[in-house]
Amino acid sequence: MSAALLEVRGLTRHFRVRDGFRQHRTAVAVDGIDLALRAGEAYGLVGESGSGKSTVARMILRLLSPTAGTMVFRGQDITALQGEALMRLRENIQIVFQDPHASLNPRKTIFFSVAEPLVIHRGLRGTALQNRVEEVLEIVGLSGNFLYRYPHELSGGQKQRVCIARAVALDPKLLVLDEPTSALDVSVQAQVLEFLRDLKARLDLTYLFISHDLSVVRHLCDRVGVMYLGRIVEEGAVAKVFSAPDHPYTQSLLSAVPLPQAKQPAGRIVLSGDVPSPMAVPSGCAFHPRCPRKIGAVCETERPSLDSRPQGRRVACHL
Ligand code: SF4
Repeated sequence: MSAALLEVRGLTRHFRVRDGFRQHRTAVAVDGIDLALRAGEAYGLVGESGSGKSTVARMILRLLSPTAGTMVFRGQDITALQGEALMRLRENIQIVFQDPHASLNPRKTIFFSVAEPLVIHRGLRGTALQNRVEEVLEIVGLSGNFLYRYPHELSGGQKQRVCIARAVALDPKLLVLDEPTSALDVSVQAQVLEFLRDLKARLDLTYLFISHDLSVVRHLCDRVGVMYLGRIVEEGAVAKVFSAPDHPYTQSLLSAVPLPQAKQPAGRIVLSGDVPSPMAVPSGCAFHPRCPRKIGAVCETERPSLDSRPQGRRVACHL
């Protein structure tokens, strides 16, 4: 768990948003983030809705083009890959979406859903295809009895396992998991998380785990990056960040979650106001209008850089 599998530098994404009849404004969804995923780790990217974490995932998957910045995967610059090279990249970086019901075609059998990427990327047919589909279904704990069933015949947890089977069918190196348990019943969530932990070890995968749920990240991830309004404000080993968060935003998030064995701030820190619009990101530290520990004008005018601190942590705060 050392070499960087994926390195992202200055990754930025702006959207042009229509505001009124003629005017367009710019929404800053992701604002110059630096990120390095080590081979074999599970990295959790957390933040409230609208913090930009899913946009980061979609850029890494090249489903969206960055406005600025670079992405290097296994030593290759993937920022502007096209054609065949982009197809090869997609074999190595796969995604599991939040909602398994929406991810599977209700008119197609489980066999078809899992076989599709194998036909498109590997050209498998006949017995070889059948064998590989059965093999990946077995990896995710589903027997061959599921092959010719339709999604409506499966439970939520089983459907998510089929989505995971489809994602690992091509032997990817990096799996992006975008809130993979939040659409499932609470009783099934723990099983799927435990299964994901085993799967990572068995297939030697690296995870980018997108979530708003800190307790889930704590259970599954090695490191965590906390996003606020398109920027990473704190990063470090899960055990360190969760036991002693440095950034006031991380402190407020953690104060709202009951976590066993975590040293949490005394009492709940309730933030004032709502998350500002990405079309009007505050100057200086973007968190300053809501920060309970704001130290003065410097917070309003100077953007804090994400500085390295002891024990491999990075924090963006003037404190
Ligand atoms: Fe709060 Fe200032 Fe730190 Fe921002 S830089 S989190 S406003 S103390």
